[in-house]
Amino acid sequence: MSIEPLSRAGYERIEIVNGKQVSSALVSRLFLDADLVISLPKLKTHVQTVYTGAVKNFFAVLPLSERRRFHRLNRYERFSEAIVDLYSVVGRGVSLMDGIVGMEGNGPSTGRPRKLGVVLASANAANLDVVACEVIGLSQTRVHTVKDTIARGFAARFEEVQIVGDSLSQVSRKFHVPPRLLLRANPIIEGLTDIVLGLHGSAVEVHADKCTSCGHCRNICPVGAITIDNYCRIDYSKCIRCYCCFEVCPNDAIVLRRPFVRRVLGRLRGGKREE
Ligand code: SF4
Ligand code: SF4
Repeated sequence: MSIEPLSRAGYERIEIVNGKQVSSALVSRLFLDADLVISLPKLKTHVQTVYTGAVKNFFAVLPLSERRRFHRLNRYERFSEAIVDLYSVVGRGVSLMDGIVGMEGNGPSTGRPRKLGVVLASANAANLDVVACEVIGLSQTRVHTVKDTIARGFAARFEEVQIVGDSLSQVSRKFHVPPRLLLRANPIIEGLTDIVLGLHGSAVEVHADKCTSCGHCRNICPVGAITIDNYCRIDYSKCIRCYCCFEVCPNDAIVLRRPFVRRVLGRLRGGKREE
């Protein structure tokens, strides 16, 4: 058996009928031609979308340029709906989610490992996410991808999903979520706070002493806001606060600088790496 990158056979643009945010996507030909797809997501919370799991794992079938296009949608609701748009045309196979050691807090790169000792499996990735959110104590209405897959009929509500194996009470542990979820608990409060205090998102900041100039952040940035000049530099006039650079930096050289109110909320929830 050989291991091949999904880019090996190139990409093909496929139409997304009824997409809410995107009407087409470039998808790996290797993926499209596969007889069987086994997707291996990790159970984790996420700084931008609150939670990512089995549905978001299909994002891997896109080339980097296409991921940048999706990220340019910026607001997490729009980005989440684009993820579901993609899932509507590529979601298939079996998803095996590794929750033996999950991640809570500011995932996917700087959250805290959390032992859970669970593996979740389903032939319906959207249903798997519904159950995974319950396992970590996240309401299905507070994760936009989950809410959207239920609304579009790709997933059932938790109460309607048939679970085989251990019961929820045997495996569930409440995870700390990224602090911004506190504001998202009430969209009206979040919207007003953003408007009144100018708090739309947190700014990314570079710790030059930790930067090794590897360039991963520059390569992923969807708007070309990053240059490497001895160390990573960010053009804030271009930055759309998608946090991709924060996610990919292997050296913790990029941190989120949160406005005061969110810093306070973050500390209340034990959030990590908030300046
Ligand atoms: S990814 Fe991190 S270490 Fe690499 S260039 Fe960017 S900031 Fe520096
Ligand atoms: S600098 Fe970072 S947060 Fe800003 S747009 Fe680029 S990748 Fe996103």
